Amino acid sequence: MTSKRILVIAGSDSSGGAGLEADQKVIAAHGCYAMTATTALTAQNTQGVYDIHQTPSSFVRKQIDACIEDIGVDVVKTGMLASASTIEVVAEALKRHNVPVCIVDPVMVSTSGAQLLPETAVEILIAQLLPVTTLLTPNLPEAQLILKSTGKSVGEPQSVDDIVAMAKAVRELGPKYVLLKGGHVPLTKDRVVPTGEADRQIVLNVLVGGAEDVIFETAYLKSKNTHGTGCSLASAIASRLASGMTIEQAVKTANYYIEAGIRTSQDLGKGSGPINHFH
Ligand code: PLP
Repeated sequence: MTSKRILVIAGSDSSGGAGLEADQKVIAAHGCYAMTATTALTAQNTQGVYDIHQTPSSFVRKQIDACIEDIGVDVVKTGMLASASTIEVVAEALKRHNVPVCIVDPVMVSTSGAQLLPETAVEILIAQLLPVTTLLTPNLPEAQLILKSTGKSVGEPQSVDDIVAMAKAVRELGPKYVLLKGGHVPLTKDRVVPTGEADRQIVLNVLVGGAEDVIFETAYLKSKNTHGTGCSLASAIASRLASGMTIEQAVKTANYYIEAGIRTSQDLGKGSGPINHFH
């Protein structure tokens, strides 16, 4: 039996915690086969991103074509796309190759504050990539930037209903499903915490696009080792979809995988360390 084939189009993280390196570990941990189209190299570690070297978008196209024309693909997962011209190349290639499932993690700014996509590229992301996206996985700041760029006024969510409404507004821009990751929203059992961090208890992830909206609740884990959790979650979902799960099952169980990865992380480096991908 051959493994399911996943093409990751994303940036490299030299320290192995996020980006393509994390994606490949996650995909391998799920027993799938990972291919890569590298959009950028980063010089980074657990403390920050020190430099970025972009791949010419014409070369990204060649990497995508080389993989798909020979090996084929079951699921594409995108991460850091680095530039508007690479987003255009990716959107065109997804259509030309009739890629059946595409998970888009709209990576914009790293947790350490590095700009991984220029804000000016968000309009191209919306116009070209979102219409060919199966599942978009923004965190709250990314969803806010996407909506702001369409001219919508977006404030901070005050309730769970506000988070669901925001996910639906993003979905109107084209993706079949949107998973809005609420990791940045300070929440207790059923309300936003006005005092912020100190009282946090839970994380809500909201999935819209199916017959019913689904709210996934997980315990808030206080850990410094969360570097690459966004990349890893999207790759875990991609692997689970490739292996035949429904979107709802894939999202639910991928969250458990990430939670266990944070719980068993190893305190590597001096800053925000990686999660454990093999557990
Ligand atoms: N570096 C690369 C290449 C990434 O793709 C990402 C996230 O997608 C990051 C860094 C940021 O990771 P984090 O915000 O988890 O530190």
